[in-house]
Amino acid sequence: MPDTAQQDRLAKAREIANNPVAYKVCEGCDSIVTAEVVICPNCHGYRFDADPTRVVDQAVELGTREQRSVTAEDLS
Ligand SMILES: [Zn+2]
Repeated sequence: MPDTAQQDRLAKAREIANNPVAYKVCEGCDSIVTAEVVICPNCHGYRFDADPTRVVDQAVELGTREQRSVTAEDLS
């Protein structure tokens, strides 16, 4: 169900935004991983940005990007 996936993603984004120090952003693929991850599970990169501001920005962007894609599908 798209609505459930959307809510899950928004809930996750909110959870990350509330506790950004527990996460970091992969420099290779911009995915958010937990702070203890050493190798990115998505792109196998090992460079991360742990800046909480960047983590929050990325979490918000992930949530809104999904929302835009759902809206675009609804309009087509
Ligand atoms: Zn990555």
